[in-house]
Amino acid sequence: AEAAPGRVLGREFFAAALLPRAANVHKGLFGQAGVIGGATGMVGAALLTARAALMAGAGRVYGGVLDAGGPVVDFMQPEIMLRAATDLHLLCSALAVGPGMGLSEIAAQQLRRAVAFSGPLLLDADALTLLGQSPQLQSALARRDVPAILTPHPAEAARLMQCATSDVQNDRVSMALEMARRYQSHVVLKGAGSVVALRDGRWLINTTGNAGLATAGSGDVLSGLVLGLLAQGWEPALALAAGVHLHGAAADWLSGQGVGPVGLTASEIAPAARRLLNMW
Ligand code: AMP
Ligand code: MG
Repeated sequence: AEAAPGRVLGREFFAAALLPRAANVHKGLFGQAGVIGGATGMVGAALLTARAALMAGAGRVYGGVLDAGGPVVDFMQPEIMLRAATDLHLLCSALAVGPGMGLSEIAAQQLRRAVAFSGPLLLDADALTLLGQSPQLQSALARRDVPAILTPHPAEAARLMQCATSDVQNDRVSMALEMARRYQSHVVLKGAGSVVALRDGRWLINTTGNAGLATAGSGDVLSGLVLGLLAQGWEPALALAAGVHLHGAAADWLSGQGVGPVGLTASEIAPAARRLLNMW
């Protein structure tokens, strides 16, 4: 499926990529997803991303938590292999960097290493703030063969574009396109009516999702869903568009069950997304 300029996104756009799993598959076919983030006080952000990658179907998921005193296992999701962040680029077929990562020198170092990783790469949250501050990282990103994926909310987008959040919100499509061009990456400008802008100038507006998604950790789950699709070998533009659609559709399904918009928690999004992935 190809994204068309200005298209409104529907599930038919990526349903063709959702191949049924044959009976004789093994986990090695579905890739290794790695999440780098989770500084002290923000470990949960990285866990939310890792759990969502697992529920989006990644074969294996690794978590590189930067908090030195952080957990060695996620007891709610012990499938996730928590490791030193340093090795993840050697183990993984796709990486997401940034959820709860903080802005420390160690975080910056991890980000530099991740940008040099040759596989699919998603940057979110603190990784976007660090990126906005570093011309070296920006040129390294622009030189990547596989375009990176950037997932800013409006305030993060404003930092990337050195403007005010109101400037971003007043012209969301142009801003998303300009970010994609400046950073030579695929971008989703998040918030109601998320705008997906691809490196080649194509763009989409997502119509799924609701106010329940305006809750702590929601974006971390989006990053994990996209990461899970990337790890399985989805082409980055498609993984991004599909992940954004799926994240919103999961919240819409939950709202129909009386879960949200008030009090929807981010942890509930990935199990709902998994349900949709298996029913579509
Ligand atoms: P973050 O701010 O990083 O936690 O990301 C929030 C996530 O929730 C993004 O995927 C947003 O697009 C989504 N979101 C937040 N508020 C809304 C809203 N009012 N309607 C639809 N989606 C939303
Ligand atoms: Mg976020």
